[in-house]
Amino acid sequence: MTSNTINLTGKTALVTGASRGIGRAISEVLMECGADVLGIGTSIKARDGDLTDHAVRCGTAFTPIDADLSDRAQINSLLEGVRRDHVEVDILVNNAGIIRRSPAESHSLEDWDRVLAINLDAVFQLSQAFGKQMIERGDGKIINIASVLSFQGGILVPGYAASKGAIAQLTKALANEWASKGVNVNAVAPGYIATDNTADLQRDADRTASLMARIPVARWGEPREIAWPVAFLASAQASFIHGTVLPVDGGWLAR
Ligand code: NAD
Repeated sequence: MTSNTINLTGKTALVTGASRGIGRAISEVLMECGADVLGIGTSIKARDGDLTDHAVRCGTAFTPIDADLSDRAQINSLLEGVRRDHVEVDILVNNAGIIRRSPAESHSLEDWDRVLAINLDAVFQLSQAFGKQMIERGDGKIINIASVLSFQGGILVPGYAASKGAIAQLTKALANEWASKGVNVNAVAPGYIATDNTADLQRDADRTASLMARIPVARWGEPREIAWPVAFLASAQASFIHGTVLPVDGGWLAR
């Protein structure tokens, strides 16, 4: 019988972009559910203090690993390190992401390339590497952090919207191939969450007012409100869920 709580004891999760915001909350909640967490980020080793303490409180382990996900060579080194240490990743959370705001007609190709490299290319490279391990074991969970802009075009963020639309399609494409091999691939699509990623919007009083008027729940979401659905998708209770892009958006898409 499946447990009536989310129990990830004995599982190892790899969370990208674990140093702050949604990725930090996901790391915390997965550890609260019993998982050990490998947290990937740029200079995360220098800033992981709280997460290591949190792991101790949860009776789990947190291992920070520095890697710049815009650099394929650094992703290769990360993968080599994981292989060398014989780490088996049960849960992969592709969370790291960046946003660049500017009108489409002047959106620089450097910004376009960087957004696509981190938000999409790295997700495929990591999913392919860990998906292979999971297929061999016949068991694993991959959760991608998409966005409400996986469904909508947004304003002034053409590269970001393109990357998040692609994440929704990649989630479905991988699920179609891997569901029968014991791997659940799903995505959570956050609405407007109070993190550094939305700091510009939060500072803009007019934009905040118009967003709040448009969100049925009329407030910013908290990172932990994204983390709990991720933990659910990582759990045994979500065994029949494949290829879903789950909006967690305070009702934004319902309006
Ligand atoms: P954030 O800016 O607070 O955190 C982003 C994380 O990604 C950080 O830990 C950062 O270190 C990491 N990161 C950035 N570039 C990296 C790189 N080159 N290599 C490795 N790590 C890198 O943002 P957030 O709001 O916590 O966003 C997390 C995810 O949620 C992103 O994919 C974002 O697109 C998505 N999202 C956020 C919102 C929101 O409202 N905050 C809404 C929808 C989707």
